[in-house]
Amino acid sequence: MINVTQPFLPPIEEYEAMVRSIWKRNWLTNNGPLVNEFELAIKDFLGVPHMLFLNNGTMALQLAIKALNKVGEIITTPFSYVATTTAIIWENCKPVFVDIKPDDLNIDCTKIEEAITDKTIAILATHVFGNPCDVLEIQKIADKYNLKVIYDGAHCFGTNVNGKSIFRYGDICTTSFHATKLFHTIEGGAVFSEDANFIKKMALLRNFGHTSSNSFDGFGINAKNSEFHAAMGLCNIKYINDIFKKRKQQWVLYMELLQSLNVQKIKASLGFNYAYFPIIFENENSLIRSMEALNNQYIFPRRYFYPSLNLLNYLDYYNCPISESIASRILCLPLYHNLTFEEQHMIARVLLRVQNN
Ligand SMILES: *Cc1c(COP(=O)(O)O)cnc(C)c1O
Repeated sequence: MINVTQPFLPPIEEYEAMVRSIWKRNWLTNNGPLVNEFELAIKDFLGVPHMLFLNNGTMALQLAIKALNKVGEIITTPFSYVATTTAIIWENCKPVFVDIKPDDLNIDCTKIEEAITDKTIAILATHVFGNPCDVLEIQKIADKYNLKVIYDGAHCFGTNVNGKSIFRYGDICTTSFHATKLFHTIEGGAVFSEDANFIKKMALLRNFGHTSSNSFDGFGINAKNSEFHAAMGLCNIKYINDIFKKRKQQWVLYMELLQSLNVQKIKASLGFNYAYFPIIFENENSLIRSMEALNNQYIFPRRYFYPSLNLLNYLDYYNCPISESIASRILCLPLYHNLTFEEQHMIARVLLRVQNN
């Protein structure tokens, strides 16, 4: 069976050694030494000034919104994982959807201004499949209207823009280290910010608002992560350059094998991490036929992202025809470290056969 993704696992001896050290200290969670070491390792690897390790990427989004200390409308993308939208609702804000661009599938900056009202507090956009949003353009709009910018960077570990980590753009950027992502800590996430005040605020929010064992500065939640998760991150980060290298080869191979296929393939931007390989069919029928043919060979791609989030039945509807259309026709092909080139050839053969029938 070939799934859309499969988690990377380090050699078990390396994780065991970490676990033994945890046993020795008997310190399992609450900002332990491995959590600190992991935060330092990631900041160093990415060249970012601040980062907080959290229990997942959804909580990262929620803390980021909470740290703005305001409620109101948040302009966001309908083409993302559902967590991007639900985090907004969970924080008592209202998602206002702005349609995407058909080429890189990120929010269309030219449509943001017309969605701004006197209730708008922020823009929350996703760097879809590791391709960066127009970060400079979005910042210009935010500055003009005095809005905050949050990015959902769940897909873009390792992506760089203008020679620096994409996590350094916006007021706050979040990411996910879930097992399905390119780099993972089993469950996990993080927030990044250049602004020490936001980091201080989110550090309080992460740990119930504790300033010491018996005092609090406002209310918080439990968004901490454990020594065991940090240990997985520390083991995996040693292999990240192998993962990037292999991922790029796999991505390029798909591009070559599928070039005659009459589907839209997402272009790689500069500093890209090659995390996903989505293809966009002409229509939903064509997607379903291809998916069934793959399923018959025990190959399970995923419809990322489906449905378009502006269609969620618990929300006010906003018209986003491009996102709705693409969400109905897009398929992410299997792509993970242990996927073999032979398996990729097989996947391509099945797809080409369907297209030529
Ligand atoms: C995975 C993902 C999330 C959620 O992260 P979790 O760690 O699973 O909570 C949020 N946004 C996007 C775009 C994602 O792909």
